[in-house]
Amino acid sequence: MANKKERTLVVLKPDAVQRNLIGEIIQRFERIGLKLVAMKMVVASENHIEKHYTLDPEWRRKVGEKTIKGYKEKGQSPPSEDPIKISKQVLEGLVKFMTSGPMIVMIWEGAHAVKIVRKLVGGTEPLSSDVGTIRGDYVLDSYEMSDTDGRAIRNLVHASGSAEEAEIEVNHWFSPDEIISYRLVQDEILYDVNLDGILE
Ligand code: GDP
Ligand code: MG
Repeated sequence: MANKKERTLVVLKPDAVQRNLIGEIIQRFERIGLKLVAMKMVVASENHIEKHYTLDPEWRRKVGEKTIKGYKEKGQSPPSEDPIKISKQVLEGLVKFMTSGPMIVMIWEGAHAVKIVRKLVGGTEPLSSDVGTIRGDYVLDSYEMSDTDGRAIRNLVHASGSAEEAEIEVNHWFSPDEIISYRLVQDEILYDVNLDGILE
C-alpha cells in the first residue's frame, strides 16, 4: 500500500536561487498536491555537501561509471577509466557549486513523493531532460559544456532518488524538531476514501 506520508528531500541549488526560480519551482510541487513539511535557506559547508553525496557508499562508483559511459557514448575518451577517480572530480565540482551561494532545502510529503518529485524534476542533464520538467523547462546546461569547463552541471534541483535515500538525506539536512506534521484541507480530496464531508 502506498505510504501517504512518504517524504523526499529537495534542494534548490544556488543556480535556482540566483535565477529567481524559487517560487516557480515550489509551485510545481505545491500544485501536484504534495505537502511542504520543512523548509530553510542555507549556505552549506564543503563537508556537508561532500557527506550529502557520499551518504550512499555506492554513489562514487555509480556516478563514475555513468560519467565514463557518457564520454564513450559521445565517442570521446574519459579522463580516466577508474570510476572512483572520475567521481572525485565530479564531487569536487559539486562541492564548489553547492557552496557558492544560498540554497533552499525542503522536505515534501505525500503518496509516492519520491517518484512524483523525480518526475517533475526530470533527468539529470538539462539538455536531454524532457520538456515540461523543471530541468527541461528552466535551464540549458549539458554534460558537454560542464565537462569542457570542468564544473558541475547546473541543473537547479537535487531530489532524493529513492525512499531509502530520502530518509538518510532528510536526517542529514534536518533535525526532527524542524519537521512539522500538520493537516492540509486538500488532504481530504486527495486521500479520503468516502468524501462524505463535502456536501452540506
Ligand atoms: P540526480 O539524482 O539526477 O541529481 O543525479 P545523480 O545523483 O546521479 O548525480 C548527482 C550529480 O552528479 C548531478 O547533479 C551531476 O552534477 C553529477 N553527475 C551525475 N552523473 C553525471 C555524469 O554522467 N557526468 C557528469 N559530468 N556529472 C554527473
Ligand atoms: Mg541523485
